[in-house]
Amino acid sequence: MALDLESLACKHVRELTPYQSARRIGGHGHTFLNANESPKSQLYFFNSTTLNRYPDCQPFEVVQGYADYVNLKRDEVLVTRGSDEAIGLIIRTFCEVGEGIVIAPPTYGMYEIAALTNRAQVYKAKRDEGFKLKAKNLEEAVHEAPFKVKAIFIDSPANPLGELFPKDELVKLLKDLPQTLIVMDEAYVEFAGNDNSCVSLLREYPNLIVLRTLSKAFALAGIRCGFALAHPSIIALMTKVIDPYPIADPVAQVARQALARGGIELMLERVKELNERREALREHLKALPIVEEIFPSCANFLLVRFKDGPKTFEALVQKGIILRSFENRPGLENCIRITIGTAEELDEVMRVLSALN
Ligand code: PMP
Repeated sequence: MALDLESLACKHVRELTPYQSARRIGGHGHTFLNANESPKSQLYFFNSTTLNRYPDCQPFEVVQGYADYVNLKRDEVLVTRGSDEAIGLIIRTFCEVGEGIVIAPPTYGMYEIAALTNRAQVYKAKRDEGFKLKAKNLEEAVHEAPFKVKAIFIDSPANPLGELFPKDELVKLLKDLPQTLIVMDEAYVEFAGNDNSCVSLLREYPNLIVLRTLSKAFALAGIRCGFALAHPSIIALMTKVIDPYPIADPVAQVARQALARGGIELMLERVKELNERREALREHLKALPIVEEIFPSCANFLLVRFKDGPKTFEALVQKGIILRSFENRPGLENCIRITIGTAEELDEVMRVLSALN
């Protein structure tokens, strides 16, 4: 009898729809503004003489560099293979089979997929009018969920909405649910300004975990380097679960340079430039009759509702411009997310949009 490979796989894997990353969706074009990447890379030095050795599980200088950057101690920092790995690690560390997490769609898609691949459950909180998210929405979800909720995942700024989760709401949540982990995903926080980060709350609230990444403001999506920031006991638990060598040596070398003083200065300049470009794009879009609504993003992207989203998306594809459509997400019909690219790339987007009616 022929081997049925499909039926050999775990049930939850057979039923899984994998994350539709920009790379997986692909698309033919020359301008890719669909993955919230930075438009340009920097130059880095690279030493190949240590490649014969396994790297440290937690490269000392990368941990120290990030701890200095966020003003924490080394034992409050875990380096991971992108913040995506940290999301999975939290679920693997804290959720027994059948327990689970709360999320508040629209939100970053990997929370749900990481839960489902690890046999954890997902309950979706409802947002208020205008997608506003409050502590009460999440608390209600924790109480309604038909399973034990171990963690709540909140992206701030949120993807794709672009808005921050208010700090007073976070404090309420941390106080009201002291037995639940509150995971604040701050992948885009540098664009909103580091004073909007909740890192300063970590010492007061041991149930808080903050996720960070070098993929966005640091322009290093290609090296896959992220961080979990939390109470030393949480970091120690996650360190039990992480792979033995998650951070390749070339990754550590580049991350170290990015986190040196010069690297951080470059990052801050990049953030300022991208934020200015985002606001200029917002102004241009406001004047277009085909635009219905622009969401108040403070990240390196804008979410825009067009009068006819699919038609607009297709017109851009025809010109080789690939954006990210949110057409199939409840409440986001006709919405397209535009990553802030170079001035030339955004001019090109505007030229195509201005010609449509
Ligand atoms: N969180 C959010 C909100 C994101 O949008 C993304 C990537 N698009 C990630 C985390 C994952 O980032 P990383 O490259 O660090 O895995």
